[in-house]
Amino acid sequence: MDNSINRAHELMELEEQYGAHNYHPLPAVLERGEGAYVWDVNGKRYYDFLSAYSAVNQGHCHPKIIKTLIEQSQKLTLTSRAFYNDKLGPYEEFITKYFGYEKVLPMNTGAEAVETAIKLCRKWSYEKKGIDTDQAKIVVCENNFHGRTTTIVSFSVDPDAYTNYGPYTPGFVVIPYNDVAALEKVLNEDKNIAGFLVEPIQGEAGAYVPIDGYLEKTAALCRKHNVLFIADEVQTGVARTGKLLACDYEGVHPDILVLGKALSGGAYPVSAVLSSNEIMEVIKPGQHGSTYGGNPVAAAVAVAALEVVRDEELARKAHEHGIYFREAMTNLCNESTVASFVRGKGLLNALIINNEGHKNLAWDICLKLAENGLLAKPTHTNIIRFAPPLVITHAQLEECIGIINVTVKSFG
Ligand SMILES: *Cc1c(COP(=O)(O)O)cnc(C)c1O
Repeated sequence: MDNSINRAHELMELEEQYGAHNYHPLPAVLERGEGAYVWDVNGKRYYDFLSAYSAVNQGHCHPKIIKTLIEQSQKLTLTSRAFYNDKLGPYEEFITKYFGYEKVLPMNTGAEAVETAIKLCRKWSYEKKGIDTDQAKIVVCENNFHGRTTTIVSFSVDPDAYTNYGPYTPGFVVIPYNDVAALEKVLNEDKNIAGFLVEPIQGEAGAYVPIDGYLEKTAALCRKHNVLFIADEVQTGVARTGKLLACDYEGVHPDILVLGKALSGGAYPVSAVLSSNEIMEVIKPGQHGSTYGGNPVAAAVAVAALEVVRDEELARKAHEHGIYFREAMTNLCNESTVASFVRGKGLLNALIINNEGHKNLAWDICLKLAENGLLAKPTHTNIIRFAPPLVITHAQLEECIGIINVTVKSFG
């Protein structure tokens, strides 16, 4: 026992000493995962209620995805796009039909896909919409999270994300989230708006769900003004919120759809930008790309990961589990003085903690949850996100609700 505790301590020390301190992890050192479970180096088992920020919707080490990863890795891993490979074309056909688009541009990380969407939108606005060179603007929302590149943090409103990373990329207009009138105003007043980049539910902001009709109305405004509606579904997409896409709740078909995270089920970095022929054709050979984008491992893994989502009906499960979970959390909020309210959709949920007089309360609750066998991470000091893998069973979810109840009530 002592040895294994020392081992965990040693491993944390190594990260402390040799790794840049750009994260502040909870003190759990994980070495194995399966489905909704992860195990630490002491053999302690936890429910994973973060799911790597919704990258492992299909559950840890899903056998079908890992089998595909291994088989493709033993055959061909990378050709670059200087040549064709036998996995990319079938993947491109599969993913475009799966999400109802005409073209896909494959990248690796979410931030790269957002960058791709920004470049695509700008280029379209000059070459198709007729905005004067370098005048295009993209409207974004307060409290957005779209990734970590220099351009993307240029329009973040989170000081941690942008401070001292300037000079910043111009060409973005920030409006309040969940405010249709604010978008209407800027579209009416500014003829140089090329696109509206939005998260259908703000994930990093703490599962912030907009009013019903927000997506439908903002998409309609974009259509009216010939402005591209760009949905960043890197976190909300691939069944997390109880539909294949969060935009599906309002029947909105984004002009540009950005996906990442669960596109590979956590096995490999895979992201994608989906759009129409008309929009995608503005990018020609040599004008954008990535060495690893569209590699055969990524292509094979993404097909497997999306097949799992479809075959195991993960959207339906997320929807049903989500309703049940929020009901249980609402009951908890009625019985606990520290739990204020719950919000979310599907299995992307957040419990808001009343942390008056105890600033680190959400962190402390998460430490206690870990002790009790459930891993979750606080965001913005008073929000705990609950997002288990979508393969979690009803019985497992029941057990987790029990753990959360006991733990939160022990704080008041
Ligand atoms: C995580 C996330 C990103 C960035 O993805 P990375 O793979 O970390 O670059 C972009 N947009 C949203 C909505 C995200 O949640």
